[in-house]
Amino acid sequence: MSGMTAPKGAFDVLPPDSARFLAVRDTLTAPLRRAGYGYVETPVFEHTEVFSRGVGESTDVVTKEMYTFDDRGGRSLTLRPELTAGLVRAFIEHRLHTGALPVKLWTVGSAFRYERPQAGRYRHFTQVDMEALGVDDPALDAEVVALGVQGFRDLGLTDFELLLTSLGDATCRPQYRELLVAHLEKLDLDEETRRRAEINPLRVLDDKRPEVQAQLDDAPLMVDHLSDSTRAHYDAVRQHLTDLGVTWTEAPRLVRGLDYYTKTTFEFVHHGLGAQSAIGGGGRYDGLSAALGGPDVSGIGYAVGVDRTLLAVQAEGLDVAASAGVQAFVVPLGAEAKRLAVRLVGQLRAAGVSADTVYGDLRLKGAMKAADRSGATHAVVVGERDLADGVGQLKDLRTGEQRAVPVGELFQALKDVVTA
Ligand code: AMP
Repeated sequence: MSGMTAPKGAFDVLPPDSARFLAVRDTLTAPLRRAGYGYVETPVFEHTEVFSRGVGESTDVVTKEMYTFDDRGGRSLTLRPELTAGLVRAFIEHRLHTGALPVKLWTVGSAFRYERPQAGRYRHFTQVDMEALGVDDPALDAEVVALGVQGFRDLGLTDFELLLTSLGDATCRPQYRELLVAHLEKLDLDEETRRRAEINPLRVLDDKRPEVQAQLDDAPLMVDHLSDSTRAHYDAVRQHLTDLGVTWTEAPRLVRGLDYYTKTTFEFVHHGLGAQSAIGGGGRYDGLSAALGGPDVSGIGYAVGVDRTLLAVQAEGLDVAASAGVQAFVVPLGAEAKRLAVRLVGQLRAAGVSADTVYGDLRLKGAMKAADRSGATHAVVVGERDLADGVGQLKDLRTGEQRAVPVGELFQALKDVVTA
C-alpha cells in the first residue's frame, strides 16, 4: 500500500473545482431531461457476464481493463467499465419493452477501467449515459446525436467535432467483412495486428499507427457497401440532423471500442485535448438486448465523459460555474450578534438564497476575509454597538459601501439585494 493516497489513476474533485465538475455534469444531462428521458440508477457492480456479453468478449475493455472480483459468496462481479450494459440489463429484467416505446433512459455515475493513466485517461471516471430502446427510427438516431451536441453547446464549447458513420447491419456487414479480410490479408501487418484482424477486422481500420494507416488508403469501406435498407436509414438520419441544425464530419473509418454497434455510429472529439480527444461516443446497437438474453429489440445511445468534457471546458477557457460559492454572508461580532447571524442564515437558506456565516472565534479581520472568500456579493455585519442601536450594516462586498438597516428588516434587505 502506498500510504493514504487515492489509488493510481483515481483522484478527488475538491472545491472550488468541484463546482465546475457539477456544472458540467448537470449541463450535459439537462437536454436529456428536457427531451423526456427518465433517470435510472443501476448498481456500480454487475455480474461479470453482463459486461463480457454486453461489451463483447474480444474488446480491450473486457480482456484487459475490468476490475473483476469474487465476492464472499463466490460470485464473479465486476465494477462497471461503462454504463450501457447495466442499463440494458435493467431494461430486460424489468421488462420495460412491454410498455410504451421507445423507452428513453439516462444515468450518470462512476465507471472503472484498469487503463494506463495519462492526461484525460483515468481508472475511475464519470460518464453521462443515455439510451433510447425499442424503436428503430432514423429520427430517433438524430434526436440522440443532437442531444449530445446540445449538451456541449450549452457548456459553450465550440472546438468539438461530431464524427459520424454507419456500420451497416446483419444484411450487409458479413459480406463487407469478407471483402475487408481479403484486403487485409494482402497487407504487410505484424502478428498482433493480424490476430486483431481475425477477431474484428474493422478495428484495423481505426489503427492510429502511420505504418498501418499508410497501407489502408484503398481498403474497402463499410459506407460504400451498405445494403439498400441501411443506406436509406443512414440517409434519413443525416436528413434529420440537417433539419436539426447539426453539422458533422463523415468518418468512414470510425470503429468504436464495443462490439455491438450497428448502423449509426458516432464519436465526439475535442481538438484541445491532445491524445485522449474523445469526449463522448455512441451508436445503434441492435443486437445488444438479445445478446444479454433479452428481447430482440433495437437501441441507440451514447456515453459522454464528464471528466474529459471538463478538460475541454478548461481548454477553451470557459467559466461554467460563475455562481460558485454563496450569495449572501453574515458576519457577527460578539455572542448576541451570533444568534442573529445563525437565525438570518437559516431564514435566507429556507427562502432559497445560498448563505453562510463564520464559525469559531474569528476576529473582525478573519471574519471579513471569510466573507470575501465566500463568493457573496453582499454581507450583513453586526457588531455589539449596532445591536444596541437595533441595526445591522448591509455591506456591498464589491464596492465596500454600507448602510445601517433595522434588525427586523435585515432578512428582507439582504435577500432583495442578492436576488436583484
Ligand atoms: P467509451 O465507453 O469507451 O465509448 O467512452 C465514452 C466516453 O467516456 C469517452 O469518449 C470518454 O470521454 C470517456 N472515457 C472513456 N474511458 C475513459 C477513461 N479511462 N478516463 C476518462 N474518461 C474516459
